[in-house]
Amino acid sequence: MRLSLKYLIGLVAFLSIVLTLAASIISGYRVEQQSLIESTLETNRAYAVKMAQSTESYLSMTLQSMEASANQMAPFMGQENAEEILLSEVNRMKKQTDTFNSVAIADRDGEILAVSPETLALKGKMLNSEGGREALKKREAFISQPYIGLTGRLIIFLSSPIFGNEGDYLGLIGGTIYLKEENILQQVLGEHFYKDGSYVYVVDKSGRIIYHQNPWRVNEVVEGNAVVQQLIAGKSGAMEVVNTEGVEMLAGYATIPTADWGIVTQRPKEVALASSVTMIKEMILKTIPILLFSFLGILLLSYKIAQPLTKLATYAESSTENKQGGKINDVRAWYYEAVQLKQALNYSLNFFIHQSTVDPLTKLMNRRAMDAHLEQWTGQGRPFALLIFDIDKFKRVNDTYGHAMGDEVLKYLAASMLEAARKDDICCRFGGEEFVMLLPETDRQTAFQVAERLREKLESTISPCGEVVTISIGIAMHPEDRQDSDELLELADQCLYEAKRTGRNRTIEYATLRI
Ligand code: GH3
Ligand code: MG
Ligand code: MG
Repeated sequence: MRLSLKYLIGLVAFLSIVLTLAASIISGYRVEQQSLIESTLETNRAYAVKMAQSTESYLSMTLQSMEASANQMAPFMGQENAEEILLSEVNRMKKQTDTFNSVAIADRDGEILAVSPETLALKGKMLNSEGGREALKKREAFISQPYIGLTGRLIIFLSSPIFGNEGDYLGLIGGTIYLKEENILQQVLGEHFYKDGSYVYVVDKSGRIIYHQNPWRVNEVVEGNAVVQQLIAGKSGAMEVVNTEGVEMLAGYATIPTADWGIVTQRPKEVALASSVTMIKEMILKTIPILLFSFLGILLLSYKIAQPLTKLATYAESSTENKQGGKINDVRAWYYEAVQLKQALNYSLNFFIHQSTVDPLTKLMNRRAMDAHLEQWTGQGRPFALLIFDIDKFKRVNDTYGHAMGDEVLKYLAASMLEAARKDDICCRFGGEEFVMLLPETDRQTAFQVAERLREKLESTISPCGEVVTISIGIAMHPEDRQDSDELLELADQCLYEAKRTGRNRTIEYATLRI
C-alpha cells in the first residue's frame, strides 16, 4: 500500500517540528553551556584576585609588624642581659600574630639569640638554613621560597632586618610557616574550599605548591600546567585547563607580588555545567506538552488538507474501476490545487461519460447507454413502448450520393426523431442506420401515433440528399408483449422485418402482427 497524503503531510510536519525543537534545544544547551563557562571563569578570576589581595595584604601586614618589632629590639641587640627581652619578644610575636609556627632573632652572623617555641632548642645555633642565609645576605624585608628548614620541615621564612641607629646591620627577626602542618595559609585560604570539587592552591614562582587542600600535594612542582605557566610569567586571568589528574577545570588565577606567589581557584567544568543538563531536562519536559499539542493540530490540519485530495482520489479510483464512489460535487475543495483537480477531474469524467454514451455522428445516445436504460426500466417493471426504425433502401442512398451524404441523411433522421420525441423519451442510434426510441408510460396507441407521425413527416419531406427517404418501424410494448429486454427487442425487430416484407414505409406493432 502506498502512503496516503494525510500521513505524508503529518509525517513531514511532525519531523520538521521535532527537528526544529531538537535544534533549538541543542543550541539553547550550547549557549547555556557557553555562558556558564564564561560566568564560572569570571567568578573564579574575581575570586583569585580577591584572595590574592587578602593574602597580599596579610603578608605585608605581617612584614610591617615584624619591622616594628625589629625597631623595638634594635637597642637590645648585642646587649648583655637582653636575652630575657629578646625571648619575651619572640614569644609575643608567635602568640600575638598567630602567623608563625616559630619565631627567632639572630645576630648579624646568624647566631640564634632567641627562639619560640623554646622546645625547638635552637638557641646558640647558626641560622644556616636556605631561607636564613638568604635573609642575612639580603638585609631587607624578605619572604623566602619554600625550603627544608633546620628541623627538617618544609618551611617558608619571613624576616625583617634589625638596624642600629646609624643604620648598621645588627641581625634579623624571622618567622617560619610550616607548610605541611597547620598554618596561617590554611586559615586564610582553606576556608574557601567548596564541597563540589572546587579548590584553591598557591604556587611559588617556580611552580611549587605552597598551599593545597590536599596537604600531600604541598611541595609538588606543577609542570606543564598552562595556568601555572601564566602565573610564573606574572599574569592574572582565567582559562580552561586540564589539571594533573586529567580533569577539565575552569580556573581563575592571580599573582601575590609581595611573595612572588600565584593563587589558583578552580572548579571542575563538569560541575559548573551540571545546571545546563538540568536545564535541558526541564526544557524537554516543558516542550513535550507543546509538542503533543502541536502534533494534534498538525494531524487535524493535514487531515483537512488531505481530505479533498483523498476524496478526489477515491472518486477517480471508483470511476476507473466502475464502482460507486460518491458524488464529486460533495468534495469540498478549499484550496487552489484541490479546486483545480476537482474541476479537471469533473471535466474529464464528464467528457469520458459523454464519449462513452453518445454517438459521435448523430449525437444521439449510443447502444450501450440505451441498453443500460432498457435494463433499468425492465428491472423496475416500468411500462414503455419500444420503437425500432430502419431506413428503407439506404444502401442506394450511399451508392448514389456517397457515404458522406449518407451520413448527412442519418443526422437528418436523428434530428427528425428528436423533434418527434417528448421530454422523457429516449432516442438512440441502435446500429448503422437503425434507430430505437423508448417512450416511457406510453400506451400502444400513442406509440403507434408517434411512429406514424414521424414516418409521415419523413415521407413528405425532402432529405439532404435531395430525395425523400422513408423508414420502416416496428413496435413492441413492455411489459405487455415481453418482459425481458432482449426478447422485447427481438419482437420489435420481427415487427420491423414484417414492415419491410410488406412493402416498407410503414409501422407494424406486435398486436397487429399477431392478427
Ligand atoms: P432495406 O430497406 O432492406 O433496409 O435496405 P437497405 O439498403 O437499407 O439495406 P440494409 O439495411 O441491409 O443496409 C444498410 C446500409 O447502411 C449498409 C451500409 O452501407 C449503410 N450504412 C450503415 N452504417 C452507415 C453509416 O454510418 N453511414 C453511411 N453513410 N452508411 C451506413
Ligand atoms: Mg438496416
Ligand atoms: Mg435499411
